[in-house]
Amino acid sequence: MTTVVLMGPPGAGKGTHAELLAGRLGVPVISTGDIFRAQVAAGTDLGRTAQRYLDAGEYVPDEVTNAMVRERLDAGDCRPGFLLDGYPRTLDQAAVLDEVLAAQARSLVAVVVLQVDQEALVQRLLRRAEIEHRSDDTEEVIRRRLEVYAEQTVPLISLYGGRGLLREVDGNGEISEVRERVLHVACALTPAE
Ligand code: AMP
Repeated sequence: MTTVVLMGPPGAGKGTHAELLAGRLGVPVISTGDIFRAQVAAGTDLGRTAQRYLDAGEYVPDEVTNAMVRERLDAGDCRPGFLLDGYPRTLDQAAVLDEVLAAQARSLVAVVVLQVDQEALVQRLLRRAEIEHRSDDTEEVIRRRLEVYAEQTVPLISLYGGRGLLREVDGNGEISEVRERVLHVACALTPAE
C-alpha cells in the first residue's frame, strides 16, 4: 500500500505533477483544493462554507477539512493507497492523518515537497490567473496564500523531516525538467507491502 503526501507552496506545481506521480504509484490523487472547488461549483453546504475561505486565500477550518478527508480516505478506491495533494496543511491535519492511517493499519511512505523560489511562485500564479480565472489568483490573495503557507504549512516540513519521510524536489524551471525530477523520486518509492 502506497500512501504519499505531495506538498509545496501555492504555484509550486502540485496539481501539474500529482497525476504523473500517482500514476506511477498506481494510486488515486486526493486533492482537497479540487474537492473544495467541486463543492463550491455544485453549490453544496460544504461549498458555501468553503468559498469565503478560498476567495480570501485562507485555509478552510481544520474540523471541516478533516471531516471531509476522513470520509474520502475511507472510499474503496483508496484501498491500494493514495497521493494526497494539498493535505495535510496544518499540524492539526497532520495529526488527524496519522490517526486515519493508524486506523487503516498503514503509514506514510513519503512526503514529496516541491520547492520553488518565492518570486517565481507569484509570477506563475499571476499567469495562471489569466488562464484559469480562479477567484483566489489575484495578487493580494496570492501573497496572502503564500503567507499562510509559510505560517501554517512549513512547520510540517520539519515534522516529516524528523521522521525521515521528506523527498525534496527542485520545482524551479520548465515543467518538463520538474517532471523528470518527480519521476526520479517516484521510481525510488517502492510500495511498502
Ligand atoms: P489548492 O488548490 O490546493 O491550492 O487549494 C485551494 C484552496 O483550498 C486553499 O487556498 C484553501 O482555501 C483550500 N484548501 C485546500 N486544501 C486545504 C487544506 N488541507 N486545509 C485547508 N484549506 C484547504
